[in-house]
This record gives sequence, structure tokens and C-alpha cells, in this order.
Amino acid sequence: PRKELIVVTPTYNRALQAYFLNRLGQVLRLVPPPLLWIVVEMNVESMETAEILRNSGVMYRHLVCTNNSTDLKDRGVHQRNTGLEHIEHHKLDGIVYFADDDNIYSLELFESLREISRFGTWPVAMLESSKNKAILEGPVCNGSNLIGWHTNEKSKRLRRFHVDMSGFAFNSTILWDPKRWHRPTSNRIRQLDTAKEGFQETTFIEQVVEDESQMKGTPFGCSRIMNWHLHLEARDLVYPKGWLLQKNLDVI
Ligand code: UDP
Repeated sequence: PRKELIVVTPTYNRALQAYFLNRLGQVLRLVPPPLLWIVVEMNVESMETAEILRNSGVMYRHLVCTNNSTDLKDRGVHQRNTGLEHIEHHKLDGIVYFADDDNIYSLELFESLREISRFGTWPVAMLESSKNKAILEGPVCNGSNLIGWHTNEKSKRLRRFHVDMSGFAFNSTILWDPKRWHRPTSNRIRQLDTAKEGFQETTFIEQVVEDESQMKGTPFGCSRIMNWHLHLEARDLVYPKGWLLQKNLDVI
């Protein structure tokens, strides 16, 4: 049987939300089942999101995060944690992947998620924020063994693992079965942490694996880009006069 994929997506109302969610939903619909799409909103479950999910043709759960942090730098973190809690609480057995709504994903990516047994990672192509420079973030591999990392931003050099949020996936059973996976025991991994911008991925991953030997690079050689993180900001768009976009989903 094919492995279950559990895709966790934080989302919020803004101008391009309907576009982003529809686009991601259409990719997920093309992925052979079983796949569960866990979409998490902040504070309230919006009707607009509910409708997009209903029409997506994908198996989904629509959750709400009630942590009322208003800190902008927390972008999506508490929502992803709500997804993690749900997976742990219901012991959903599969490969967990954090897929932001605004990234671009190939079908090949979802195929390769199914090859992961414990923890998989791969290079993600992105635009370096503010500089419009295309860069890679993620592992350098020899076959499927990790031999280094692509590092770029000076401010992030101190990270233990140079992985983007959309550049790794792991077996959900790690969350509740540390013995099976010999994961580091000193930490609990129910949560992503908001401590430091740019360090969320590494602080999470440090709790899931000891070191690179417990990771596998994918696909073989890590030489293909399977998803893109473009940092398309929808916050500062200027709208034509008369457009009503408080809900930021559709123009009405
Ligand atoms: N997000 C959210 N609430 C926010 C900001 C972001 O739910 O206040 C979600 C957003 O929909 C996306 C993810 O968190 O799925 C990452 O957000 P964004 O793309 O703004 O962050 P970046 O890609 O710039 O790190």
C-alpha cells in the first residue's frame, strides 16, 4: 500500500489567498491517494476557505488555531503546531510535510515524499528576501547521504541545519514513538518554536534527528529542484478603487 501523506498548510486571509489555495489544492488533487490536507486558520474557520476545500476534491481537515499571539514574526508557526497536535492526538500515521499555501510544488516532490522512512530533506530554490537573488537552501548529497548544506544568508550561518520549512518531511510516528526512532531524548517535539526568526526549521529538526546520518537526501543526489519558495508578498498590494478586499479572498 502507498504511504499516507499528511500535508500541513497554514493559511490566512489576504488578497491572493484564493489563488494560492486553489493552486495548491489542484496539485494535491493530482497526487495519488492516500493524502490528507490539514489546513489551519487562525481564530476562525472562514467560509471562503471552507468552500475552496470542499471543492478541492482532496481529503482534508479544516482546523482553527486559537493561540492568540499577534506577533507578526510568528507567521504560521502556531497554526503548524495546531496541525502537529492534531496528528499526534489522532496518531495519524504518515509522512508529515509543511506546505505553505504560496509555494510552488511539483508532483515529483510528492512522489519522493513516499520514499522517506524517517526524515527526508532536499534543496529548495528560493528568492533571497529583499535581494531578488535566486538561491538554494538545503542539503548537498552524495547519493542519498548528506555531505553538506547550501548556506547563504549571513544571519543564518549559525543554524545547525540549513533547511527551509518546505524542504523536509518526516515520519509522523517520531512524534509519539521516540524509542523506535532513537531520537534525541532531551527535548519534546510537540512544537515548532517562535524564538528566533529564521531558526524555526533548525530548532524543530534538532529535536527530530541527532545528526545528518539520520537524514536522507532525496531524490538520489539531491540534484533536482522539486519546489520553489518565492516570498511573494501580498501584504502591500494596492487595489483598484472600489474593490472590497477585507476578506481578501475574492473580489466582490
Ligand atoms: N501565514 C499565516 N498567517 C500569517 C502569515 C503567514 O497563516 O499571519 C501562512 C501563509 O499563508 C503561508 C505560511 O504561513 O502558508 C508562510 O507565510 P509567508 O509566505 O508569509 O512566509 P514566508 O514564505 O515569507 O516565510
